[in-house]
Amino acid sequence: MPEDCLFCRIAGGQMGTEFLHEDDRVVAFNDINPQAPTHVLVVPRRHLDRISDLEASDEALAGHLVTVANAVAKKLALSSYRLVLNCGADAGQSVFHIHLHLLGGRPMRWPPG
Ligand code: 5GP
Ligand code: ZN
Repeated sequence: MPEDCLFCRIAGGQMGTEFLHEDDRVVAFNDINPQAPTHVLVVPRRHLDRISDLEASDEALAGHLVTVANAVAKKLALSSYRLVLNCGADAGQSVFHIHLHLLGGRPMRWPPG
């Protein structure tokens, strides 16, 4: 685990973050700067910088991120929501540890900015 990675520390429980979901592979917690009434991050415990680092052998983990996001959305009674993966700085990625955004609770515009 990279010592200086914020999401490694959060996923490892070192920040005292409240998890909406946790299992052996991922954790889910509220974004500190929510962009919608619901803004949850689903984060693998294993450190990977960005989505493009996923390999064929990681397909199950990639699917699990979506499955967990769906489960959290269901738990929060969201009927409509958006899942976002930012890959790279120009796409808006600011934390270089893979995370899936779950956004909901307001109408969404398209295309995203
Ligand atoms: P990105 O821009 O990389 O796709 O998303 C990173 C997200 O992490 C942002 O939405 C940002 O608000 C969130 N974030 C950054 N630092 C923290 C933190 O310390 N705690 C939590 N819960 N979220 C954070
Ligand atoms: Zn990390």
